[in-house]
Amino acid sequence: MPEPDSEPDSILVVTPHPDDSESAAGGTIAKWCAEGKKVVLVVCTNGDKGTSDRSAKPEDLAATREVETLNAAKAYGLADVVFLRMKDQGLEDNDEFREKIVKQIRIHKPQLLLTIDPNRPYIRHRDHSMTGRVALDAVFPYARDHVAYPEHLEAGIEPHKVEEVWLFRPEQPNHHVDVTDYFETRQNALHSHLSQVGERSDERDELSLKRLADTGEKYGVELAEQFMRIEMNR
Ligand SMILES: [Zn+2]
Repeated sequence: MPEPDSEPDSILVVTPHPDDSESAAGGTIAKWCAEGKKVVLVVCTNGDKGTSDRSAKPEDLAATREVETLNAAKAYGLADVVFLRMKDQGLEDNDEFREKIVKQIRIHKPQLLLTIDPNRPYIRHRDHSMTGRVALDAVFPYARDHVAYPEHLEAGIEPHKVEEVWLFRPEQPNHHVDVTDYFETRQNALHSHLSQVGERSDERDELSLKRLADTGEKYGVELAEQFMRIEMNR
């Protein structure tokens, strides 16, 4: 496994729903942005099923969630946000989805791809397992091989080798990031998703602090997020 000081400068975050990356890896994304790394966020679904309000119109919710995501992007200082606008609760491990992720990898050429762990065994959101699985497959071998989706090459989009993948919400964590100095930004980015997590409050900050501190305790730091870090294509 690469040493922590070899952390890459260019990162593609692939999140199933607009708020997943903030809740699971927001401190780490905040740290990367503060360090001047180029971080691009790819949001796979339009999130239009993320409500328990029976009167909510799906198209209104989808529009709201894009605005919320752009607000989170501003809080972090992301380089770019890409909305794939696929159907919420509709992701599949298929060619259509894989091609879209491969294309973003080839366009943005990240050294590191951060996505969700697809391997939760029983209770899991189907979109989450599809996103993690398809993103891993997209990194290896599809984005690397010119024979995969040759229409990209015809459009001048070259193949690309991602060096490593980090999985958030990991079943088997093997890496942590000290996010102690990035709590404020993490909370501001998370609570940009007003429709999902509500306004920022002392009570909610306490809950987040406790979660991050429980992880931090495992690694001997104040606040931490943990990942599974996998070398690819080296
Ligand atoms: Zn989700």
